[in-house]
Order: sequence, then structure tokens, then C-alpha cells
Amino acid sequence: MNKEFKTSISPCAVTEDELKLINKLTVRELKAEEVFTFNVILCDNEVDRDSERFDIAALEKLAELFVGVTGIFDHNPCGGNQTARIFDTVCEKVTGKMTSFGEGYACVKAKAYMPRTVKNADLIAEIEAGIKKEVSVSCAVSTFTCSICGEDMRDGKCKHIRGRRYGDKICSCILSDVTDAYEWSFVAIPAQVNAGVTKGFGDRFKDCENLIKAVREGKCVKFTREQASQLCEYIEALEADALDGRLFRKSLTDEAVRFALIAVPELDRETVINMCSTAQTAELIKMKDAFRLKAGEIIPLSPQLKAKKEKPKTNNNDFKF
Ligand SMILES: [Zn+2]
Repeated sequence: MNKEFKTSISPCAVTEDELKLINKLTVRELKAEEVFTFNVILCDNEVDRDSERFDIAALEKLAELFVGVTGIFDHNPCGGNQTARIFDTVCEKVTGKMTSFGEGYACVKAKAYMPRTVKNADLIAEIEAGIKKEVSVSCAVSTFTCSICGEDMRDGKCKHIRGRRYGDKICSCILSDVTDAYEWSFVAIPAQVNAGVTKGFGDRFKDCENLIKAVREGKCVKFTREQASQLCEYIEALEADALDGRLFRKSLTDEAVRFALIAVPELDRETVINMCSTAQTAELIKMKDAFRLKAGEIIPLSPQLKAKKEKPKTNNNDFKF
């Protein structure tokens, strides 16, 4: 699973102890001036947009598992290979701060380092300027407990719906028993792609259309697992639409050819098929209607078509794609 978390990353000076931790992870021993370090909050126990939340034990486990894990910065077109590595973590309970469901707030704070290379210079400058980003962590959990009834939300015993209110409580899914921490990254959808939503499937695939727009514009986009699976769903929906389109086109062509051969018997079948196959769909609809009218004058067509023929011809183009 993949979890996004709005965070701010802040640079921090590397201490000698930290340098020791970093050098446990490096091939060559690095000097303090060779590394750039920063703080990042990876995740917390607040309910997220999927109405899921980690329990404290899960956060503690994540803190443990994320040490040494590489993260990716992909916030600009040439930043594809910029990486940072976590060298220290802590699950921090913030005194006095409560979550929306009344539990003491806790978060996984990590320290990460990246080598001060020419390639990383712009990114380091940007972090030093205090950029705010959304961090995406990818991990595996094995328990999904309903916050209302305490049952596992996957085995069918729990009938509660995430995000829905039951009495004075809102149902959420508590994630626990973390088994793995795969990766972390800064979600890199360029901010401007959210402007100008393209038409199509409405809000359902808004993100996909924006991602595709970003790719089209030559931006380097890192997909989270969720985005990738949504993109696959989007492609499947497009494929289903394409199949419908092909079936419609086939039946439209067959009809147009049939009417054309009746309306203009001088034309040979091959010419008609060629003509219909190469026409734009909108033109083909007009051709079919015209041939149908003409064909109806020559031989009586079905009563349905006759009735349609008697109507004023204003609806030639009303097929919606
Ligand atoms: Zn339940």
C-alpha cells in the first residue's frame, strides 16, 4: 500500500554521531562537507484521505524499517535519479497534540542524507529554501481493523463503511502489523498540471488525465503505486470505450454500405466499402443517413425507418461520443 503525507522538509546540520550512522550505509566513508542532511516526516497516526490510519505500534515498526531505505526526489524533469537515503528515524509522540479521533498524535520523523554532488545542487538549494512536498511511503501491513467494531475489515464480518459516521464516531480502518517498508518518495506531480482538467471521465480519472498531461508536456512524473493502478484502470476504461467505438463503427459502416448499394446501384461494393471505411465517423453518419433516405425512396425499408424518415431531418448529428 501507498500512503501520502503532506510534509515539510527542513535541512539540518550533520553531527558527528549522525555522520557515523550515515557511514554505516555508505560504501566509501563520507566527510561532513560531502553530505547534505535533512529532516522529513514520513507518516503519522492521523486518518488519511482513504479513512485509514496507522496505530502507534505500526508507526514504531515503520520507524525501524525505514532506516536505510532510499527515497526518490522527482520533482523536476531532470531529477529522476536524485535520491536520498534515510539514516535515522524516530517515532515521536507529540505531547498535547491530539488526532481527529482523540488519540495522542505521533509521527515517524526521519533524517535523510544525500551526497553534495553537482547533480544534486539545485535540489539542495531548493530544500534549503524550505520546500513543502507530499511524501509517499510504500509499505505492507497485514491487519486492517475496523475502528467501530474491532473486526478485520477484509473478512466480511464488519459491515461498517470507512469514512461514514456511526453515532459519534467516524469509521476508519486501523492499519497495523507492518511487515515491510519498500520505499519513500516525494510525490512529483507538477503543481500546474492540476489546472485545466481535460474532459473525459469527469472526476473519476482526473488524476490520470493530469498525469498523462504532465507526461505529454515532457515532465518527468513519478507514479505512486496507487496512481499506477489507477492509470491501469483508466486504460482499461479507455479500452472498453474503444471496443464500443469499434463495434459502433463496424455496424455503422455495414449499414452505410448496405444503403449505399441500394441507393446507388451503379457503385460497386468494393468502392463503397473503401469510401465508407476511410470516411470520418461523423461524415459516415451523414452519408449513411443520406443513403438511407435515398434507399427508402427506391425500396420500402422497415416501418421504423419509414417513421424516422417522415420526421424533420434535424437529428443527423445527435450521436454522442
Ligand atoms: Zn466494523
